[in-house]
Amino acid sequence: MPVPPRTAARPAPPPGLCGGCAHQRLVPNTRGSVFSLCERSREDPAYPRYPSLPVLSCAGYEPRPERSPGGGGDALGL
Ligand code: SF4
Repeated sequence: MPVPPRTAARPAPPPGLCGGCAHQRLVPNTRGSVFSLCERSREDPAYPRYPSLPVLSCAGYEPRPERSPGGGGDALGL
């Protein structure tokens, strides 16, 4: 059975609430992956820096302000 190369990009997990949260910041790495960072973690240790996705329930969720039309998007909530 063929084994996929280790460099193959895995599809991003669905972000759940983080994808629409004002406190999410997307952090790309040099390998082409993008991680979902929770900005609340800077001031409140109750929030993980990189929450396990998808986040289905979060007391700190705040809706992100609307973006202009045509802004595009991806599985991490861009
Ligand atoms: S506050 Fe909650 S929903 Fe918002 S980015 Fe952090 S973990 Fe995700």
